[in-house]
Amino acid sequence: MALDLILRNARLSTADANQVPVDIGIENGKIAALKPSLEADGPEQDIGGKLVSPGLIESHFHLDKALINDRVEIQPDRMIRDHMERTASIKHTFTPEDIYARSKTTIEQCLQHGVTHMRTQIEVDPNVGLLGFEAIEQLRKDFAWAIDIESCVFLQEGWTGVPGADENLVRCLDQGAPVVGGGIRYDTDGDGQIRRVFELAREYDVDVDFHLDGGYQADELDYPLVCEITDKIGWQNRVAFGHGSKYSCLPVRQQAAIGKRLGASGVSLAVLPATDLFNAGRHMEHTVMRGVTDANTLIENGANCTISSNNVLNPFTPFGDCSLVRITNLYANVVQRYGPKDLGVCFEMITDRAAKLMRLNEYGLEIGKAADLVVWDASSGADIIAKIALPLCSFKRGQQIFAREAPKLFKP
Ligand SMILES: [Zn+2]
Repeated sequence: MALDLILRNARLSTADANQVPVDIGIENGKIAALKPSLEADGPEQDIGGKLVSPGLIESHFHLDKALINDRVEIQPDRMIRDHMERTASIKHTFTPEDIYARSKTTIEQCLQHGVTHMRTQIEVDPNVGLLGFEAIEQLRKDFAWAIDIESCVFLQEGWTGVPGADENLVRCLDQGAPVVGGGIRYDTDGDGQIRRVFELAREYDVDVDFHLDGGYQADELDYPLVCEITDKIGWQNRVAFGHGSKYSCLPVRQQAAIGKRLGASGVSLAVLPATDLFNAGRHMEHTVMRGVTDANTLIENGANCTISSNNVLNPFTPFGDCSLVRITNLYANVVQRYGPKDLGVCFEMITDRAAKLMRLNEYGLEIGKAADLVVWDASSGADIIAKIALPLCSFKRGQQIFAREAPKLFKP
């Protein structure tokens, strides 16, 4: 058998600790063989017994407003929550070249942290129009060698009664945008926006991904309407939303009920720990709430959940290095989950569970799936999260994307 590439002596993140290392045979960008001592011809790399996982997935990201921290005034009063307004105030300065350049820098950093797939939210409010959508469409094509980028178009600053807003969204869908999103919190008619999003999803046969149930006022929740419409129109496993921070303000019994309901309707939740932590409890002077929902509890009750970075270096999240593993470690630390089982689920949330949210059919460490692989110096997915391991290298459809040199200590 002649193959395009053979990765020898790899331990798989999906196998147990007692596994015998295997060789991964790759042909036409796909995993063609997975067995010990594979007899085949072709270029080889010795993985040296290191761990191989499928590529990491950023299931909820905002490329178009990444890296704008230095353009927005610092708000000296932490109790004022005006991140959206301060971001909106500079959106008129965005140009296609500017959005492209910031997104490119961000994507390159994501690649170096093992990301092979991303769903990016893109704002098409009238103050920016289709600039972001068009710039990222170009970026998506230019970086197809390294990452699959999926665009979700939405209106961040309100939809109902905003002249030109609906038209912008429809234009993107006409041009082939595969996911329609929503920003319920900033709409004068949140329920109306949810209904309109689903109406467009049906009309264009696209998936749905909202921003929903952020904040702390847990007596008003939007997920029931989303689940209800999902059931009604048969959109199970095609609907997701980000945040869900309000659930962290509810007793565990109610969180369990939410997990059951989301699971039953096939609605996935992306928890966004960095943003939720930075924004939660701004109304509290002390004993500040954390606002990060325990996705493990929702998963234990039947929901599909993921963890994602959301924002990098902007008013919503003024930190970031594009390390999804670091964000997942942050999540685990905040919700006080640790150990092989719980951290194993955390690793699933940035791999297999995120693939389920994005409906990636060719994803996983199995014969016939795309050879999107990451190599780690760690014993398991849980171990990667526990010690915030840095990936050593990655492959996209069998082509190597990057390699990280090991640091040297110069002992005198
Ligand atoms: Zn978001």
